[in-house]
Amino acid sequence: MDIAANKLQPHKYYAIALGSLLILLLSWNLAAALGHHGRPILALARKCLSQTLISVRLNGSSDVSVAAGLLIAALAAANILACVIFVKDVPTLAQRSGTLALINLVPLYLGGSRSLWINIACGVSHPVHGFAHRWIGRICLALAISHGLARLSMLEWKATYMHVILMVLLCLLGTASTILLRRRFYEVFVKSHVALSAGLQICLWLHISKGKNFETLCLGLAALLWSIHYAFWVARLAIRNLGGRTVPPGSIVALTDQGGSVKALALKISLRRPWRLSHGQYIYITIPSVPRTVGSAVQSHPYMIAWAPEVADKITTELHLLVQCQRGFSDVLRLARATATIWIDGPYGRGPKLDDFDKVLFLASGAGVAAHLLAIRHLLQGHNARTAQVRRLSLLWVLESEGLFYNLFCMECS
Ligand SMILES: Cc1cc2nc3c(=O)[nH]c(=O)nc-3n(C[C@H](O)[C@H](O)[C@H](O)COP(=O)(O)OP(=O)(O)OC[C@H]3O[C@@H](n4cnc5c(N)ncnc54)[C@H](O)[C@@H]3O)c2cc1C
Repeated sequence: MDIAANKLQPHKYYAIALGSLLILLLSWNLAAALGHHGRPILALARKCLSQTLISVRLNGSSDVSVAAGLLIAALAAANILACVIFVKDVPTLAQRSGTLALINLVPLYLGGSRSLWINIACGVSHPVHGFAHRWIGRICLALAISHGLARLSMLEWKATYMHVILMVLLCLLGTASTILLRRRFYEVFVKSHVALSAGLQICLWLHISKGKNFETLCLGLAALLWSIHYAFWVARLAIRNLGGRTVPPGSIVALTDQGGSVKALALKISLRRPWRLSHGQYIYITIPSVPRTVGSAVQSHPYMIAWAPEVADKITTELHLLVQCQRGFSDVLRLARATATIWIDGPYGRGPKLDDFDKVLFLASGAGVAAHLLAIRHLLQGHNARTAQVRRLSLLWVLESEGLFYNLFCMECS
C-alpha cells in the first residue's frame, strides 16, 4: 500500500479530537449529575484508582497509583499504536517514530518544576508534573532511539556527525535523569538537564528538514513555549530581587535540639515588593554568600512559605521559611552568617481548596509543618468570616526532639 494512503487524513484527526471532547464532556456531566448519590461510587473509584498503589515512591521519585499506572500504559500504548499502525517498511517506521518523538517534545519543553505553563498557568502540582514529565521523557527517548536504529538499519542511509551528536545528547539526557544520579546529585542533574535540553533543541533544528512541515511546527512550538517560559522566569526573578524598596538582608537562625546540635534553620526574608499570598506556595532560594563550596552559592532549593505576617488582606512583605538540615546545601547553610542576601524565585504551587470541609486534619513531621501553617490560618480566617465551613481543625505534629522548634516559637512570641 502507498505510504501516503496510509496516513491518517485531517478529517480523521478532527473526528478523534471531537470524539475525545465529547467523552470528556459526558464524563464531566455524568459526575455532576450523580451529585450526592454518586459520592459512594466516586469514593470507591478514588480508593481503587488513586489511593491504591502499584509501586511505592523511592526518594526523589513518586508513588505510582493504579490510575497513574493506567495513564502511563495508555500513553505508551497510544504511542506504540501511532508508531506502527499501517507501517509496512522501515523508512515509514523511522519517519513515524521521529515525528512522534517531536510531538512528545512539545509537552517536555513546557519547562521543569518551575514551568510557567504547567505550574503557574495550569496549577498542576510539583509531584504530578514531575511524574508526567519523567514518563513522557522516557517515551520520547524510546521513540527517538527507535528512529535512530530504524535509520541505521537502512542500507542507503549514511550517518553524519550531527546524528552521532544527537544520539550522544539523548543518551546523556537519559542517563543523567536516572533516579540514582538525580537523587545523589540533584543540583548537577537540574542544571545539566537544562543545558542538554538546550543543546538538543539546537541540534534538532539542524537535523530536521525545515519548511512548511509538521516536524518544523512541533519543534517551533516547543522552542516558542520554552522561550516564553524562560523570558517570564527572568522577568519575575528581576522583579522579586531588584529595585523596589530597600530591604535588610535575610536572617538565618539556627534551631537546636536538646543536645545543642543544629537540626533546622529558620529563615526570614523581607520582600522588595509586597505580594499576594496563598497557602501551599513555595519559593526557591539561592544564597550567594553561602560558605564552603562554590557550587552551593549557585544552588537553588525549594522551601514552603511557612509563615508570612499580613500587612493587608493576604498581602505580605515578609516570608518565613523552615529548613530541615540534610546533607547538601541545607547542611552548608548551618555555617552561613546570621544575615545574608537571599535571592528568591517564586512563588510556585497552590494548596488544596479546603473551605468546603467541616473537619480537617493536618499531619506533619519536623519542618514539614511549614506546609500547613498558612492553610490553618486561612481556615481560621475563613471560619471567622464565614467563608469556610470548617468546624474542627486538628494538627498532628511529630517531632523527633521536643526542643527543636521550641526556640522558634519563643522567637515569634517575643
Ligand atoms: C515543593 C517543595 C517544598 C519543600 N519545602 C521544604 C520546607 O519547607 N522545608 C524543608 O526543610 N524542606 C523542604 N523541601 C525539601 C528541600 O527542598 C530539600 O530537602 C532540599 O533542597 C535539600 O537540599 P540539600 O542539598 O541539603 O539536600 P541533599 O542532602 O543533597 O538531598 C536530600 C534530598 O533532597 C532532594 N533535593 C536536593 N536538592 C533539591 C532541589 N533543588 N529541589 C528539590 N529537591 C531537592 C534530593 O532528591 C535528595 O534526595 C521542599 C521540597 C519541595 C520539592
